[in-house]
Amino acid sequence: MYLKKKNNFFRTLAFRLTLWYLVLFSILSIAIFSIMYFSLISHFRQEMDDELLDAAKEFEDLYYTHGIKALEEEFQREARSEGLKRIFFRLVSPKGEVEASSDLSSWHGLPDLKLNKSTIFQTLSLPGHLHKIRLLAKPTEDGHIIEIGATLKDDELLTEKYRRTFGIALAIMLLCGGLVGWLVAKKAMSGVERITKAAMRIGKHDLKERVPLGNEGQEIDELAFAFNEMLERIEALVKELKEVTDHVAHDLRSPITRIRGIAETTLIGEQDLNAYREMAATVIEESDRLVEMINTMLEISQTDSGVVEMLREKLDLREIISEAVELFQPVAEDKQINLKSDLPSDPVVIIGDKAKLQRVVANLLDNAIKYTKPGGWVTISIRKDLSWAIIEVADNGIGIKKEEIPRIFERFYRGDKSRSTPGHGLGLSLALSIVRAHGGNITVKSVVHKGSTFSVFLPLESPIK
Ligand code: ADP
Repeated sequence: MYLKKKNNFFRTLAFRLTLWYLVLFSILSIAIFSIMYFSLISHFRQEMDDELLDAAKEFEDLYYTHGIKALEEEFQREARSEGLKRIFFRLVSPKGEVEASSDLSSWHGLPDLKLNKSTIFQTLSLPGHLHKIRLLAKPTEDGHIIEIGATLKDDELLTEKYRRTFGIALAIMLLCGGLVGWLVAKKAMSGVERITKAAMRIGKHDLKERVPLGNEGQEIDELAFAFNEMLERIEALVKELKEVTDHVAHDLRSPITRIRGIAETTLIGEQDLNAYREMAATVIEESDRLVEMINTMLEISQTDSGVVEMLREKLDLREIISEAVELFQPVAEDKQINLKSDLPSDPVVIIGDKAKLQRVVANLLDNAIKYTKPGGWVTISIRKDLSWAIIEVADNGIGIKKEEIPRIFERFYRGDKSRSTPGHGLGLSLALSIVRAHGGNITVKSVVHKGSTFSVFLPLESPIK
């Protein structure tokens, strides 16, 4: 359906742009033509009126100086020389009678003359005449009227020629303009087409491919750049998703295989109640581990995506640390590890979610104890630096290899040496996403066999607030 839409020529942007261009071009051309056309007509009309008026004045002079007879002779002579069908002259008495005229045999159907006191111009159509005529009626001082009628044939032929020429010119211009507009629009759209094709190819084949930048202009380059950035993100997400799925599959398979193995061994072996009890206990233990892992994964996703809102309450970090140390003291003692805290006397106030931050501190302490050999030490302290509260968890444990440090915050990543220790490789990922959701960060310094120091940076409560 998408392709069908895409192939529809009339829906293409290039076609629409060309159409817009043509419509605008036509409106503009017709407007310019109309202005020129009407100013031409009014110019011709003015010229004709001036000529008629000049002729009328000359006839009037002749009438006064040489009388009606001479006037009529002049009427006839002038009409013959101009053409009897092209012009006529009349002198009308105050009673409305024609006293002198040129040959009127071609001028049937002339309208009755209205006796007027001022000069009048009229344009009218006469029966039997293809073209309109321009009529002048000029009163003389003694109450007569000199009337001159002239055909507008020349003007009409000229304006018609003008109209025809313009029509042909407009048609040619529209054709060429349309063609040029279409080529320009196609050229402008070529970058978009190139990116669309690349996007379709990449979507079908290889996510690693990128749209090459072209020469179609900054907008297209920006589009290609944004598209490539999006691909980069998609590729990273797909990779991350694949890794997470692989890890989940692996981490789920091991406990389920163990559960199945225990159940199978119990079934095959002697039907002793204690064996069943043991099996049930192991199944519960393994299931708990699974549930815990799934819950932690969910918590990381929810924290990362911001689906679950963090509480924003005023907290004194010293309280969280003291409670955590109290909680972990028995575990540390069991493992003969010296767990100490070093807290300032002043409160260290931040805005945050207490339960979430407790998990961060618990994960770091748990790791420090887990990865430190008996007889070692773990210290947790707080300090302030400018606008940051910094919680430091230091140990003199096994340390982390240099090349592993950048990966320990990844989901499911477990260091080489930690494989023998229980864990899912999710504790640090969760801690980092919680701290980031608070606007902070976690950094780590570590030397193998010497120990590690994890520093949690959290923004201090601003005194202005
Ligand atoms: P887990 O502890 O379940 O393996 P984490 O996400 O908490 O997962 O830690 C990831 C990895 O970081 C661990 O497997 C371990 O290799 C390393 N690590 C974390 N904390 C320490 C520490 N205090 N000392 C040494 N290695 C550590």
